[in-house]
Amino acid sequence: MELKKETTLKNIPTKASEEYRNFPMVPRVVYGKGSFNKLGDILMPKRKHSEAPMIYLVDDVFEGADLLNRIPSIFCDQIILISAEEEPKTEQVDALVRMILDKYTELPSGIIGIGGGTLLDLAKAVAIMLTNKGSASEYQGWDLVHKQSIYHVGIPTISGTGAEVSRTTVLMGPEKKLGINSDYTTFDQVLLDPELTKGVPKEQWFYTGMDCFIHCIESLNGTFLNAFSQSYGEKSLELCKEVFLENITESESREKLMMASWHGGMSIAYSQVGMAHAMSYGLGYVLGVKHGIGNCLVFQYLEEFYPQGVAMFNEMLKKHQIVLPTGICSNLSESDMNTMTTVAMGMEPLWENALGKNWKSIITVEKLKSIYKKI
Ligand code: NAD
Ligand code: ZN
Repeated sequence: MELKKETTLKNIPTKASEEYRNFPMVPRVVYGKGSFNKLGDILMPKRKHSEAPMIYLVDDVFEGADLLNRIPSIFCDQIILISAEEEPKTEQVDALVRMILDKYTELPSGIIGIGGGTLLDLAKAVAIMLTNKGSASEYQGWDLVHKQSIYHVGIPTISGTGAEVSRTTVLMGPEKKLGINSDYTTFDQVLLDPELTKGVPKEQWFYTGMDCFIHCIESLNGTFLNAFSQSYGEKSLELCKEVFLENITESESREKLMMASWHGGMSIAYSQVGMAHAMSYGLGYVLGVKHGIGNCLVFQYLEEFYPQGVAMFNEMLKKHQIVLPTGICSNLSESDMNTMTTVAMGMEPLWENALGKNWKSIITVEKLKSIYKKI
């Protein structure tokens, strides 16, 4: 039966083709303290043969750490250590793909990303680009990937981004910072071992954790909200409150934040993020400010739009004695400020989710500049 136009065009979340999103979920997930030890068993049936390696992309913060010895590297597998200092770039993905294709006669059996959002996104992108021609920058956008990616596994070592569940990999390209959003992006397998987040420095723990908290606030207060998103968003918010406002043990906190991240990611999968993310993209594009801290820098000044969320955020800052940096935009040239607002304003679905269809009458370039100037 053909659906009637007028019914299907209601509640359009981002664009017409996504009105009833048929999005992929991670088909397999292992959870639990120490579950990293299962990795060898999980990968074994996925090995095509001894010449088709497993490639492990690992955050170089683990250089010299015991974790490297626990990676089940056999045959011609390779461990590649990568810095998460900067957010992933399309040219970095292209270089990794070239290196792998030059070195091996066979396509790898799998790509395993071990680290935070940076390494998870790199692993997703490399898995896609090993089977799709050209540069990663050609696939930044929505549903531009048409060939199945290589089997890929995500193993987070810091919690918050939700990159472990999402169907996107956010990349800085030559022209834009934008995700490769596709059905082939989502991980085939995720391994959630809360013990892997043990060494995360406190401030980074807070910033990446706040990414999750802000996902919840933006999703739950957005105009795209629906029962699907709400069910995950509320659970994630509840977990964030326990982690950041209550007194629980470190071990419990690691476990709960890992699950908060998962649920937060699921929540935005069927809604959208909002203002802090739109503006944080601008900060990231012009100044290279990273996602988590960028969201915090913006969110503190969004009281007018998310009053309860910002009040809670301030309580969290205070409880954990986090002092956000200041003066980030103070020396910005007029032209950089213009680029920043253009990038932020360009994130239309995020604004529409935050403020509704008439968002342009609420948020103006001048308003954005006045917020940026405070940062
Ligand atoms: P990250 O990967 O950038 O890492 C942040 C810092 O934490 C790095 O210095 C890293 O070395 C360190 N670190 C990670 N694990 C550690 C551990 N166990 N011990 C000690 N140090 C550790 O952090 P992130 O905030 O998870 O990721 C940010 C990236 O994620 C951005 O590039 C952003 O664009 C992306 N992102 C992607 C999605 C998505 O859906 N794909 C969603 C949100 C953000
Ligand atoms: Zn985010």
